[in-house]
Amino acid sequence: MDADVIVVGAGLAGLVATAELVAAGRRVILLDQESADHLGGQAWWSFGGLFLVDSPEQRRMGIRDSLDLAWQDWLGSAGFDRLDEPDGQDLWALRWARAYVEWAAREKRAWLHERGVRFFPVVGWAERGDGTATGHGNSVPRFHITWGTGPGVVAAFEPVCRAAEADGRLTVLGRHRVTGLVTTGGSVTGVRGQRLAVDGVDRGMASTRSVVGEFELSAQAVVVTSGGIGANLDLVRRYWPERLGTPPEDLVVGVPAYVDGSMLPVVEEAGARLVNRDRMWHYTEGLANHSPVWPRHGIRILPGPSSLWLDATGRRLPAPYYPGFDTLGTLRHLRETGYDWSWFILTRTIIEKEFALSGSEQNPDLTGKSVRQVLGRVRPGAPAPVQRFLDDGEDFVQADTIEQLVARMNALVGSHLLDPDRVAELVRARDRELANDFGKDAQLAAIRAARAYRGDRLIRTAPPHRFLDPGHGPLIAVRLRVLTRKTLGGVQTDLDSRVLGADGTPVPGLYAAGEVAGFGGGGMHGYRSLEGTFLGGCIFSGRAAGRAAAAAVG
Ligand SMILES: Cc1cc2nc3c(=O)[nH]c(=O)nc-3n(C[C@H](O)[C@H](O)[C@H](O)COP(=O)(O)OP(=O)(O)OC[C@H]3O[C@@H](n4cnc5c(N)ncnc54)[C@H](O)[C@@H]3O)c2cc1C
Repeated sequence: MDADVIVVGAGLAGLVATAELVAAGRRVILLDQESADHLGGQAWWSFGGLFLVDSPEQRRMGIRDSLDLAWQDWLGSAGFDRLDEPDGQDLWALRWARAYVEWAAREKRAWLHERGVRFFPVVGWAERGDGTATGHGNSVPRFHITWGTGPGVVAAFEPVCRAAEADGRLTVLGRHRVTGLVTTGGSVTGVRGQRLAVDGVDRGMASTRSVVGEFELSAQAVVVTSGGIGANLDLVRRYWPERLGTPPEDLVVGVPAYVDGSMLPVVEEAGARLVNRDRMWHYTEGLANHSPVWPRHGIRILPGPSSLWLDATGRRLPAPYYPGFDTLGTLRHLRETGYDWSWFILTRTIIEKEFALSGSEQNPDLTGKSVRQVLGRVRPGAPAPVQRFLDDGEDFVQADTIEQLVARMNALVGSHLLDPDRVAELVRARDRELANDFGKDAQLAAIRAARAYRGDRLIRTAPPHRFLDPGHGPLIAVRLRVLTRKTLGGVQTDLDSRVLGADGTPVPGLYAAGEVAGFGGGGMHGYRSLEGTFLGGCIFSGRAAGRAAAAAVG
């Protein structure tokens, strides 16, 4: 045997599984198709937002949360509807969901805290939902931003792995691409694949797929932690569900090229059952990155609630499709318009207070743990990364009057889809609703409700104001495209992250965790996410895989 356990994929789930395995005294080989210098996969690029329930940070912000409320929200969002025995695709997903929400309400924060993870004190309110208590969305803010963002999360696990590597318990093999699992007597006993040419590209850039050799390695068990399909647009389009309309032709990509889904057919061939492949989590607020790292690199705006959202033809999106409320509801609505883009219209005041960009590199203050820079968020002026998009982003236009703005919007997309008079009247009508502190515009009511939460008032939601008040100008428009990101379905697993076969029993020797396993069970989110649940899902399922594999090969 070359090792006790082989882990395929050195993203967050793979690092957590490896850390558990070496802590239990097992000899491990950790393989990745990318460089061994760049451990952490997508998590390194992530914003580091984590879903926690009833945390001290929430309580300090005056938020009263509970396991019951979080579970109500989770079920309302997930909409599990594939529960029929014997082969219900949601059977294990539902069990994982419950275990995960309980973990998020109990042990999760303390366990991460022990590993050095700390949080920014203002809890964010992501996915505010569809406007019903039992439907989709977070009833309260739960998005805890890791101090140090994604790299801060990775730092809780990578040093343990590096220490094990230094003393010989772990071998990390970069540029090793797995193309097959080896099965002996019905058990998975190893991996085979191709050695890729060493390529000095920077982290996240697409690397060469030139093959320089082959390899085969043996172990008592294999843990697959190979991520989702978000960069493989062929797969995204193939599994795009009819309920979301047709897939856009013009997509931006929110994940590095290595999120390619290449292990899915490999595990399927070894007997694994793949479920819920039509469930995906893509965003409607994607921008083309002005400085792309990976192909078609898109950045997601994490929007506050005040921008006016128009479809490509200038119609305002209906309630409750406001920025940051209902990701897939908005996506479904926009796909019905027949166009691949939509628009935010906003003011300088709104962009300064409400635009955050997802990704560690777009938040140098939080990623660099600079208190001084973070305090800049409450001062006037746009954060530097947002200003950079205003200056250099291809999707932004600005003007002093609404007529000029619409002319620039039409010029940007090379069409006359937007009627300047109609858009101007929409904006004026919205502004008229501001004559009172109450009124019938549901978006303005939602903005006022958001400001009842101290965190929103402080750094997230601009005071309601007239768009056509020059004191808040210039006016800004942002063209938004669909950005691919997360894969919600995948390999079905039990609560020990054991991979299940077609007959519902474990495939001996095979484990899966993280995004490839739908973050646990083949899709613990069901149809929709409450956000900040992906990193945590990788940690929770990676930990389960590492612990169970360590015990099994004992
Ligand atoms: C910009 C950005 C922001 C995000 N923000 C958040 C956030 O705030 N909160 C949150 O919860 N989630 C967030 N996410 C999502 C989260 O980061 C991912 O879902 C999670 O990190 C996935 O981890 P993973 O270990 O399952 O897979 P990955 O990180 O994708 O790692 C898989 C690894 O497997 C390797 N691999 C794949 N196939 C093979 C093969 N055949 N052979 C060898 N190696 C292979 C890949 O090279 C890769 O290194 C964000 C993601 C991005 C990109």
